[in-house]
Amino acid sequence: MKLKGKTALVTGASRGIGRSIALGLASEGAHIAINYKKEEAAAERVKKQIQSKSTGNKAITVRGSTSTKKDVGLVVDRTIKCFGKIDILINNAGILTRTPFLEIQETEWDSIIETNLKGYFLMSQAVALTMVQNGINGSIVNISSVLEKITAPNLTHYSVTKAGVSMLTKQTALELAPHGIRVNALAPGFISTDMNRQELDDKEFKEAALGDIPLGIIGRPEDITGSVVFLCSDKEARLITGTTIFIDGGRSLK
Ligand code: NAP
Repeated sequence: MKLKGKTALVTGASRGIGRSIALGLASEGAHIAINYKKEEAAAERVKKQIQSKSTGNKAITVRGSTSTKKDVGLVVDRTIKCFGKIDILINNAGILTRTPFLEIQETEWDSIIETNLKGYFLMSQAVALTMVQNGINGSIVNISSVLEKITAPNLTHYSVTKAGVSMLTKQTALELAPHGIRVNALAPGFISTDMNRQELDDKEFKEAALGDIPLGIIGRPEDITGSVVFLCSDKEARLITGTTIFIDGGRSLK
């Protein structure tokens, strides 16, 4: 129970990696605000799963798009109203489309930047302000991607957002350190979720993906949770800020 008494806001926690992170933080004793955009039933299932454990920690679902300042304000206010404070922010809500560079339309570019990069900025700023106001030595973890460092076909727009998350992590780590707030990132490789399920069902695509991963493993959402708990632990990670842990089976080595 490393996180007993803490409150964590996890964006995009209705499904995939965010869901797994919410469950992982809850199993260490944290109260959880489960943010989502559309999938209310899925978010409610995560809430029920947390409440069904006998750990005594609470969970709420909070609808809102991380890409608009108004929604971000509502999500943060609701979380504070329910729990009184936010100790941990996990910026995870993200989208991915695969489009050749020459065909990316302005609307597609804007939409991916707004969710994957602007959303992380808006949430980080709104939550960090509450941490500073309440004197909380908080922790922010940004879910980046191995593509913050390497290239992949048809993912220029996506990779650019993750490279931005890499610098956002370092800048905010530097500027929030005087307030006792640590900021780190996790960079997953291929993790089987709704984001890529269709592609991984394609045998040829999957074989090519596996060929790029030295350990030869497509990850599961649970592969991310141990590192999140570690980075959020005041004791184990108290000196760690501005760093990125790659959870990619060695993909970034190639
Ligand atoms: P996923 O299964 O598609 O889930 C995406 C989550 O984000 C859902 O909960 C969705 O909410 C939420 N979401 C999307 N746009 C949102 C918005 N504007 N506001 C609030 N919530 C929003 O995706 P995933 O694979 O778990 O990916 C999670 C993160 O990991 C992303 O940042 C992604 O870039 C990163 N990542 C994934 C992989 C991978 O291989 N899967 C690899 C590297 C990095 P609804 O359910 O309401 O739609």
